[in-house]
Amino acid sequence: MGEQPSTRDTDAVRETFLEFQRERGHVILPRASLVPHDDPTTLFTGSGMQPLLRYLEGAEHPDGPRLADSQPCLRSQDLDEVGDDRHTTFFEMLGNWSLGDYGKEEQLRSVWELLVVRLGLDPSRLYVSCFGGDDTYDLPRDDESAAVWKDLFAAAGIEGTVADLGTLERAGEIGSDGARICFYGRKNWWCRGDSMERMPLGDPGGTDSEMFYLFPSLAHNPAYGARCHPNCDCGRYVEIGNSDFMSYQRTEDGFAPLPRHNVDFGGGLERIAAAVIDSPDVFRTSLLWPLVQRLEERSGVGYDDATAAFRVVADHVRGATFLAVDGVVPSNKAQGYVLRRLVRRAMRKAHELGLDEDFVGGLVPTVAGLYRDAYPEVEQRRDEVVATLAAEERKFRRTLERGLAHVRSYEGRTVTGADLFAWKDTYGFPVELSLEEVRAESLALDPDWQHQLDDLVREQRERSRAATKKEHL
Ligand code: ATP
Ligand code: MG
Repeated sequence: MGEQPSTRDTDAVRETFLEFQRERGHVILPRASLVPHDDPTTLFTGSGMQPLLRYLEGAEHPDGPRLADSQPCLRSQDLDEVGDDRHTTFFEMLGNWSLGDYGKEEQLRSVWELLVVRLGLDPSRLYVSCFGGDDTYDLPRDDESAAVWKDLFAAAGIEGTVADLGTLERAGEIGSDGARICFYGRKNWWCRGDSMERMPLGDPGGTDSEMFYLFPSLAHNPAYGARCHPNCDCGRYVEIGNSDFMSYQRTEDGFAPLPRHNVDFGGGLERIAAAVIDSPDVFRTSLLWPLVQRLEERSGVGYDDATAAFRVVADHVRGATFLAVDGVVPSNKAQGYVLRRLVRRAMRKAHELGLDEDFVGGLVPTVAGLYRDAYPEVEQRRDEVVATLAAEERKFRRTLERGLAHVRSYEGRTVTGADLFAWKDTYGFPVELSLEEVRAESLALDPDWQHQLDDLVREQRERSRAATKKEHL
């Protein structure tokens, strides 16, 4: 069984951050719902800045130009990453904002003070990235941020060595060789959407500067690139926070400076807490470890023996709980479907730990207890949430058992798209779980399965459309 982490470490980090921002004249905002109410373009609140977007775009905020909070986030796009030591679908993002108030230098100095002075992180394990410039749009390198970082490192007796790494691909080839300040290209350009080219006219954008905490005892994994650097996915360097400097606006032929410059900081609460307890594993922090421990007790399996399964179950149950608290109910579309996926995948992974009877609802009270002070609404809505999630669990239990049995009966045969379709259509077993099982059992999968499946889904849709037409004749 794993070691015990220090208790309540994560609450202490949250409180320290909010108190620090209060001292610096920030108004602390209440959390927004995980389900954005006025933004149809996205299913979930996935960052602290998302609920504040219109203020970052120029609207006056009633609480003034200095704002901060700890915002619960849900990233369904990270669902498949869960299992490693630093990604969860649900997490809290510590955020502070300057709406045309302080700038780059004050922001970077304050993050340093927070991490090194207030939270006691070892400065010799901190590394940063900055924007390296862009030729296409004639944007300069962010030497201003680099100079501030250099100065902060120097004051701690550390040489602010620099590496110019360019693209992520190039960075993986040449490595950063332990440089403190790493320049990357577009990796350090912040904008909404996915690329500079596709930014809508008038959209704000700008450079950003990330901070990483090094776990030197971890070995570099060359599967992620020949050589290591702060953005390498091997996990030696963990990204703990990011300061965006929103100071440009997209124009017809490039970028023009915005009249008002904003700062947007986002730092992962669980990741910062993990750095504070000197563990690369966010699941060892006080908002996740008690869930791992309950699962250890109930299953008799040790965390070290089935780490990924423990992580998926702990994360998904916590995320599902918060979604239900924020009013999401399991269904076949939108937010409800993501909730359903979290519960089903948690059940699938719990099965690996030998937990095959009601457990989702059993873990909800543990989640509620962990958030009693920070988010009392979890405790208040506890019974409702237990009822919702337990009903979903009961409904899927038999389907899960039958589905797994079907997939496993294919040992020695090749699973085709038609099989995946039949398991879904006849037994309600989701394709993504079938695929996961096929992989886990190392079964052969027809290389053309995706086409086969798509064709069957299309035919089915056309059949049901024809049937609806007839009904209406
Ligand atoms: P990564 O590259 O590690 O996935 P990111 O670039 O997606 O991180 P940002 O979008 O910049 O991260 O989010 C701000 C901060 O939120 C990160 O610095 C990190 O500390 C935290 N964070 C992001 N994604 C997750 C996650 N899935 N689980 C926990 N913390 C996260
Ligand atoms: Mg990410």
